[in-house]
Amino acid sequence: MSQNASTDVLIIGGGVIGLMTARELALAGADVALVEMGGTGRQASWAGGGILSPLYPWRFAGAVNALAAWSQRAYPELCQALFERSGIDPEYAASGLLILDPEERAEALAWATAEDATVEEMDIERIEREEPGLATKTRSALWFPDVGQVRNPRLTKALHASIAPDVHIREHEEVLQLSVENGRTTGVRTTAGEIQAERVVVCTGAWTADLLGKLGRKPDIQPVRGQMILFHAKPGQIRHMSLLRERYVIPRRDGRVLIGSTLEDVGFEKRTTAEAKEELYRTAIEMFPLLKRTPIEDHWAGLRPGSPSGIPYIGPFPEVDGLYVNAGHYRNGLVTGPASARLLADLLLGLEPILPPSAYGLEAPRP
Ligand SMILES: Cc1cc2nc3c(=O)[nH]c(=O)nc-3n(C[C@H](O)[C@H](O)[C@H](O)COP(=O)(O)OP(=O)(O)OC[C@H]3O[C@@H](n4cnc5c(N)ncnc54)[C@H](O)[C@@H]3O)c2cc1C
Repeated sequence: MSQNASTDVLIIGGGVIGLMTARELALAGADVALVEMGGTGRQASWAGGGILSPLYPWRFAGAVNALAAWSQRAYPELCQALFERSGIDPEYAASGLLILDPEERAEALAWATAEDATVEEMDIERIEREEPGLATKTRSALWFPDVGQVRNPRLTKALHASIAPDVHIREHEEVLQLSVENGRTTGVRTTAGEIQAERVVVCTGAWTADLLGKLGRKPDIQPVRGQMILFHAKPGQIRHMSLLRERYVIPRRDGRVLIGSTLEDVGFEKRTTAEAKEELYRTAIEMFPLLKRTPIEDHWAGLRPGSPSGIPYIGPFPEVDGLYVNAGHYRNGLVTGPASARLLADLLLGLEPILPPSAYGLEAPRP
């Protein structure tokens, strides 16, 4: 089927970054189309946990935390707006995050003071009161009461439904090539034909380096596999998100509990493994013995758009006019999505950017 078409702005990739970028641009009045090789919201943005904070935020670059902080402020209203428009509830919940690794207490407290984030030290009695099912023996923990979560598969569905009246969404159509003439973008060639566009925004997550590499500049984005398991406990049995030795537990409103996640360098291999399932199960039971009586309901893997510094690439592609990138969000694409989308839209539309953009540029030096 040949479907030649034209648009002002074309977004490539229908994960959370592409969908949010399309939304921002459409809200600003641009003529926007989005092309996605599968269904929207089926890759990393589906597989993720939905914790709205970098894990151990003090370990991250200021550029990541700046996107996260802006997005954290935007999320409650954004989810409300998406729900009102689409009828799909992304289940934003400020369920709080309990960090059970006490080793970096001083760094965490210094970070919280500098960033004006709320963090409290919890002693063992309070931990037992707040999270009675938790068995991990730590004498104290750090409690981040304001950290929220979203149910990300529903977030992307709500985004898709909200923008569909204004954005032409083309699914199951892969972009094979970015078209450039005389140093200017002219659109793309896809499995279904040509799409002409004045401006193109590449939001292709883990697949970004291949697509852009053909133009001679390859951002350092590699797939990093993450596996997760899911239990179906009773609502309220586990109340808060908790984090221990890089493994986290996320309770959803309906009682489902996610445990994640692995960090694996295996290229584009998305299969799950028995070893990861076993290791995640052991951690889950160690933290919450009540899960022993709960069957595992699901086990999946996703490919994060890994970048060495974790700082996403947001901005114009230097060698091609009209071409932009919003990709490489690694472990934090859900928490940094709203700010990343808005920043890209600001740059593309020539508006005052919400954050200084230099740290995210394709030519910016990265730590
Ligand atoms: C196990 C796991 C847990 C995570 N937990 C969290 C968390 O708790 N909090 C958090 O903030 N982040 C988390 N993340 C990270 C987060 O999910 C990602 O950073 C985010 O989803 C990236 O969004 P994206 O839109 O860039 O990528 P994706 O969701 O992967 O979307 C990219 C899209 O581009 C499409 N595409 C690619 N190439 C083409 C092409 N040539 N033509 C057309 N379409 C194309 C793909 O099909 C895909 O749909 C987690 C990730 C994983 C895997």
